[in-house]
Amino acid sequence: MKAIMLVEPGKLEVINIPEPVCPENGMLVKIAFCAICSTDVYMFRRGHRALKYPVVPGHEISGTVIKVSHESNAFKVGDRVIVGPGINCGACQYCLSARENLCPEIKILGFNHPGGMAEYLAVPARMIDAGWIRKIPDNVTLEEATLAEPLACCINGIEKLDIARRSKVLIIGGGPIGCLFAWLLRGDNCKQVIIAEKDPRRRSMVEELRAAHETIDDLKEIDTFDVLILACRYFPDAEWLSTGLAKEGQILLFSGTEEEFLNTSWIRLVHYNEWKVFGAYGCRPSQLEKALVLMKEGLVPARKLIDNCFSPEDINEAFGLVESNNCLKVLIKF
Ligand SMILES: [Zn+2]
Ligand SMILES: [Zn+2]
Repeated sequence: MKAIMLVEPGKLEVINIPEPVCPENGMLVKIAFCAICSTDVYMFRRGHRALKYPVVPGHEISGTVIKVSHESNAFKVGDRVIVGPGINCGACQYCLSARENLCPEIKILGFNHPGGMAEYLAVPARMIDAGWIRKIPDNVTLEEATLAEPLACCINGIEKLDIARRSKVLIIGGGPIGCLFAWLLRGDNCKQVIIAEKDPRRRSMVEELRAAHETIDDLKEIDTFDVLILACRYFPDAEWLSTGLAKEGQILLFSGTEEEFLNTSWIRLVHYNEWKVFGAYGCRPSQLEKALVLMKEGLVPARKLIDNCFSPEDINEAFGLVESNNCLKVLIKF
């Protein structure tokens, strides 16, 4: 079968590899679409703590079930499904309390387990048991369904926060994640959601989508806010943070922080201002289901983010486009 392979940092190839066999009690999925996440591009350039080369990348996956092992009856041939990104152990304290994304043994598709940028994907029984495979609602397309994973990751972030209707939320980063956060918050009746985005092309895309109540290009344009969501690898400087974030304000660290922004001087302010700092990493099976329901009910118009689709042969062009930021969501069609 045709597969995209991340051979080493900076090197993606389209190659032929043997089709996977249907695992015992598992199933085989024919991939329809796999979306490119900014993490994929980051890994492509810089590697990642969980990455093992060579690997088929991709963790935002939709497809159709083409083979089901006889022991599995949750799914049948022809079902349209999303394939979540994790294979967790199922036995640790995190797995047993439905916090599967925190499982220390978790394998992540496209990082240290074959991902979705190939024609077929073998789904082991453990993924089905844990709920990582979800049926796509009839009125959600296979294209749009690839966005269930990033949306679920944003739901995971929002579930950490305590957001009141009157909260003023600032999201730094106007990419797909920033937009998904804005739509989720507005769906929760949050009265003031602001996206800060420096890239003028991206900013005009976000404005066109009307994702936030307001879009700004310079952080100096905002005076105070109650919640800060970091949907990019940037971290603001302590002085700006101390004048902007309200007392008892909340900070959500959604993305890994770039080395150059890593400093600890703001930690002192957490003490004086009683700030609350949260991390959010990936998503859980229950959040994938919530994401699909929000799409089905039209509450989050995720499909509006999809602005490009490439064939596997054009993978380098597709990654280049994501890296340029001159797009929102790019899909690969298999
Ligand atoms: Zn992702
Ligand atoms: Zn576990």
